[in-house]
Amino acid sequence: MRSPFDAPSRWRFLAGAKGTAYAGDAFYFVFQSGRLVVNTGPDGPIVQAARFQHYGLMPDHLHFLGLWQGISCVSGELAAEVLLPPGYAAVDLRRFAMEVQDEDLFAMASRAQQIVDWEHTYRFCCRCGSPVQDHPQDFAKVCARCGYAQYPRISPCVIMLVTRGEEVLLAQGTRFTRPMYSTLAGFVEPGETLEQAVQREVWEEVGVLVDHLQYRGSQPWPFPHSLMMGFWAQYAEGEIIVDPEEITDARWYHVSSLPPIPPQGSIARRLIDSYRDYLGVPSTPQRW
Ligand SMILES: [Zn+2]
Repeated sequence: MRSPFDAPSRWRFLAGAKGTAYAGDAFYFVFQSGRLVVNTGPDGPIVQAARFQHYGLMPDHLHFLGLWQGISCVSGELAAEVLLPPGYAAVDLRRFAMEVQDEDLFAMASRAQQIVDWEHTYRFCCRCGSPVQDHPQDFAKVCARCGYAQYPRISPCVIMLVTRGEEVLLAQGTRFTRPMYSTLAGFVEPGETLEQAVQREVWEEVGVLVDHLQYRGSQPWPFPHSLMMGFWAQYAEGEIIVDPEEITDARWYHVSSLPPIPPQGSIARRLIDSYRDYLGVPSTPQRW
């Protein structure tokens, strides 16, 4: 299966594409009241533009997202009062991520969600309060009065798997909606390097010190606009003492015997699976 990243030169925004009608071979990543519209039929979950238009449905605020398997992907929005035709449903994006367990598909949906959110949030200049317009080239909004350009907000976050030989430190967060254990994570603070953020967050959340950090990749996380940067971090010293405001439980687990962990398609899972691969320990499938 091809990934959109096979075509990097065409993987870009067309800022002037707002309002352009895409027809035929395009996939829609359309949101209605903050939920992603999916095809619930056997050829789902991606919505094909032509079939959607067959029902007379034309989303607003269309933006070209990129290519997936060579096909244009377009984000857009449907008004809350529009009735979805049979075979379509609007679903929570987190739930979609857990069900499809496909990092590329989730990346596309997450990109769409952030663009739709951006259209909603940035309607007025944050400097003078006047209405804004699309920037002619950039993915930005420009104030018609004072010329100030506002770019979409992206919040850098670090996410790290703390390792100790064949053991990994996994924690249950106070905000988790499922009984699972995951890697630690947190926002980067102003003036901080990513490495400092990893060390500070691990120290604050579970009271241990880490070093020998290894960058392992990143993932946009649209809740609402984080960019997760993933690390392996080696345990250095200290006993686990959790911050009860953030963590309900944290433990060392041997990589061959893990509790329920995040689904495939998430960077947390990728950090864990790649560490097991690195140690040569087969992963055990987990149902979601
Ligand atoms: Zn202004």
